[in-house]
Amino acid sequence: MSELNGIRPLGSVIVLATLLAWESLAPFFRYFAGNRKDRVSHGLKNLALGILNALVTGLGFAALWWSAADWSQQHGFGLLNWFALPAWAHLAGAFLLFDAWMYWWHRLNHRAAFLWRFHRTHHSDPTMDVTTASRFHIGEIALSSVLRVPVIALLGLQIWELALYEFAMFTVVQLHHANIAFPEWLDRALRGVIVTPFMHKVHHSCWQPETDSNYSSLFSFWDRFFGSFRLCDDPRSLKFGLKEFSGPQDHTLGGLLTTPFKHVQRTSGKSQAERQTSRALANDSHDASDARL
Ligand SMILES: [Zn+2]
Ligand SMILES: [Zn+2]
Repeated sequence: MSELNGIRPLGSVIVLATLLAWESLAPFFRYFAGNRKDRVSHGLKNLALGILNALVTGLGFAALWWSAADWSQQHGFGLLNWFALPAWAHLAGAFLLFDAWMYWWHRLNHRAAFLWRFHRTHHSDPTMDVTTASRFHIGEIALSSVLRVPVIALLGLQIWELALYEFAMFTVVQLHHANIAFPEWLDRALRGVIVTPFMHKVHHSCWQPETDSNYSSLFSFWDRFFGSFRLCDDPRSLKFGLKEFSGPQDHTLGGLLTTPFKHVQRTSGKSQAERQTSRALANDSHDASDARL
């Protein structure tokens, strides 16, 4: 466990640095072409939210998760502790069950109006890249952190299993937000098991039927099991973000932190006609960023 805690921060930095370099060398969308200042400003704001969230979870919630896991071990409580499982099966069960919880929690964030208020901070980013993986409102992180306490106890997770799951999920989440793309054959092979960049690009589409799809975090098969898997014909035509949060004031640090408290209707559209409109807008904006080269 202590080795894991020692490796995680360094491993996280390596994952982030590798993907930042990959996005610099081979970006899928050229949002920031020729404008390094915009890219740095965008990335720093997203990472600032990530650092705030890490501090709050580390100082405020990690001890609670630890206590819940310790208590369930002491009392033989929780689903995984009701069977005499070998360590590997306990670990596999922990990964699968906790990832299924993450799927339903994410789906609920799209379905419940109160939770969507917080989650839209993540979806309002029109220039999704690896730093968007850190762009979550502290309210969403706090709510999910509190709910984790009973989930850990009910599933009977061990703390080292949670730490290992978190590192695996962190790596896959950074990867699928990155502004990169795998060759189609590789993305198809990988998305049989994990959430890939192509899959998650569809989730960040501004067109609601696409936004409300592909909720998985680590393993991709939950979307197939629960009927929310979706791809699109041409990922290059996707437009990210939320139309109701498209002003520059929505993307300052203050704007990101006050996103849940803004009273705006969701205007991302559901019809095929609105899909065409969003695609046309996407083409315009990508042409404009290419033209800056
Ligand atoms: Zn989402
Ligand atoms: Zn995302």
